[in-house]
Amino acid sequence: MVVAVTRPTRLNISQAAVTHNIQEVRQASQASFMFLAVKANAYGFGLIPMSQAAVAGGIDGLAVALLDEGLALRQAGLTEPTLILGITLPQYARLIAENNLIATVGSLAWLEAALQYLPVNGQRLQVNLAVDTGMGRIGFRERTELEAAITFMHEHREAFTYASIMTHFAEADAPEVDYFHQQLNRWHALTDGIEMPPLVHLSNSGAAMYHADEMPTDVIRAGTVVYGVEPSRGELRSDDYLEPVLTLETELVFVKKCHEGEGVSYGHTYYAHEGEWIGTVPLGYGDGLPRKLQGFEVIVDGVKRPIVGKLAMDQMMISLPYELPIGTTVTIIGRQGEQENTLEHVGQYTDLAPWEISTNLQERIYRQITD
Ligand SMILES: *Cc1c(COP(=O)(O)O)cnc(C)c1O
Repeated sequence: MVVAVTRPTRLNISQAAVTHNIQEVRQASQASFMFLAVKANAYGFGLIPMSQAAVAGGIDGLAVALLDEGLALRQAGLTEPTLILGITLPQYARLIAENNLIATVGSLAWLEAALQYLPVNGQRLQVNLAVDTGMGRIGFRERTELEAAITFMHEHREAFTYASIMTHFAEADAPEVDYFHQQLNRWHALTDGIEMPPLVHLSNSGAAMYHADEMPTDVIRAGTVVYGVEPSRGELRSDDYLEPVLTLETELVFVKKCHEGEGVSYGHTYYAHEGEWIGTVPLGYGDGLPRKLQGFEVIVDGVKRPIVGKLAMDQMMISLPYELPIGTTVTIIGRQGEQENTLEHVGQYTDLAPWEISTNLQERIYRQITD
């Protein structure tokens, strides 16, 4: 998709916030090695700029969902250890190995299928074994098959390196801890006494923040907290230890004074009052904003003012407090003085999860790292 570099609409990634959050999480979780999940365009923040900011902020490794995302990191020159969290087709084993990525494997059959493509130029495939302790998504479910997979990797040392093992929690960020403990018990039942590789990691953000003491390892895979969102939405811990990373800003490109009863946007769901100043900004649902955002208050000249009328594909209108010049900054997500909007606010207003909002933000919004 075309990236709109000439349009005054920007998604900013705050380097200071990324660095701060990584330090806070490292301290709270006592992590010795932190992967940052940068799947789905880094939760929509922008795969490459977010990964660069995280590396500059002290992250140790990156985790993507797809091989293609891993390749994009390598093409951008990012050389950190990189996990592919999803299952890749075995015929890509060679491409994974060549690019020094770590493949997640959930069955012995996958290793057997991948073997015919390996090794490549003497380079072995680094394997991350996924253990399903109750997430119900991917991974080994039986101890015998897990042991067989490790034995198979040893029998084919020329092809595989046993680099990593993991599990994933379904409920690590809730006040209710029973299911979390069931999964942790299942982990011990499946893996105690089994040979462990250099990287052993169980924790997502929730487990890292609330269950660090119970973890058998200090390697974590964090997403949420590093992006500045408190995993329990303040239920288990206040969110003041995190800084919001993302700001979404645009500018007034057109300003007009309306007369009583003038309709605004498609379907005229809003009518101006006499003398009302209305501004237009170049951002719409075609950029991934939910149309349910109509009525949400954005920040302009330090005050909160509503989006009026339906969002159009590329533009939307804001009721201004008074006449303002073209070029005035309009903050959808972010802070101006005392006023702040966060991803969580947008989520609450539209009844969507913060990551449903951010992963929808389209490629055409220009992303950049700011101080
Ligand atoms: C997305 C993901 C993470 C990060 O989860 P957060 O809750 O955002 O910290 C960790 N591990 C796996 C397997 C994931 O898919």
